[in-house]
Amino acid sequence: MIRRVFVFLGALALLAGAAQAQQPARPPIAVTKVDGTDGVYIFRNVNHQSMFVVTRDGVIVTDPVAYGRPNGGQQYLDEIRKVTDKPIKYLIYSHHHFDHIAGGRVFKEAGARVIAHHRAKTRLAQLKDPHTVLPDEAVGDKGRTITLGGTRLELSYHGLNHSDSTLVMRLPKEKIIFVVDTIPVGTVPGRGMIDFHPLETEAFLQQVYQLDWERLIPGHPGPGDRLGTKQDVQDQLSLLRAASAEMQTLAREGKCWDRAEKEFKLAEYEKWPGYASGLPFIARRYCGLWGRGT
Ligand SMILES: [Zn+2]
Repeated sequence: MIRRVFVFLGALALLAGAAQAQQPARPPIAVTKVDGTDGVYIFRNVNHQSMFVVTRDGVIVTDPVAYGRPNGGQQYLDEIRKVTDKPIKYLIYSHHHFDHIAGGRVFKEAGARVIAHHRAKTRLAQLKDPHTVLPDEAVGDKGRTITLGGTRLELSYHGLNHSDSTLVMRLPKEKIIFVVDTIPVGTVPGRGMIDFHPLETEAFLQQVYQLDWERLIPGHPGPGDRLGTKQDVQDQLSLLRAASAEMQTLAREGKCWDRAEKEFKLAEYEKWPGYASGLPFIARRYCGLWGRGT
């Protein structure tokens, strides 16, 4: 009998092995051309990604996404070189967080002009991260449009949100936007709540919703690598409003920090990816808002 059980377990292990073999591991690095565009691409490095645009006269690169990956910038450039030999003209930072913008040295050395929101430039100059190239140019709150080889890319600022330095990048012809971290696609926000501005983000989301676009490239791949839509903006706004209302009640009962953070739940979002890991960060941030006024 015992032997039979072992044979059975062995067969199960073989089956499990075969199932695993059928699903090859996801490669750490991937480049995807966005459907229906002439030169818009997504570069993904593990769980971070950014947009690059190939034009007639050169390439516009955004976030290098190479934090903790010493060769990440070079790998990004190598991937671009598989697509085009046009010069790298611009490197644009989505906001000042290192997990998105570290690793740009190779682009700077290739001749790129590095551009970021003015608050990102100020912050980076204070922090002097050895892996992050300082911007050459600061974009003011009124924004700036880049025109290169027949492509227009609008950089606009819509106030405080996930950071205080987020540029929304919009390709008007392609109706595509690239927005990092503030609008997770189909997932619950998590660590990004640390320096998040809860009240202002609701206004930010409403402003981004009003812009003319159809597809959103997020800074972290969404489920199945899908791009975002305006529905995702609505969904994120609903989630944040639900979180805010839930914590407001707990906070006004005097339960922040510990009791409120333990009791805080967002039952409607339990099935969303990132719920369990993200919930404590959301609770902590909204306790800060409603329990302390921060
Ligand atoms: Zn961020």
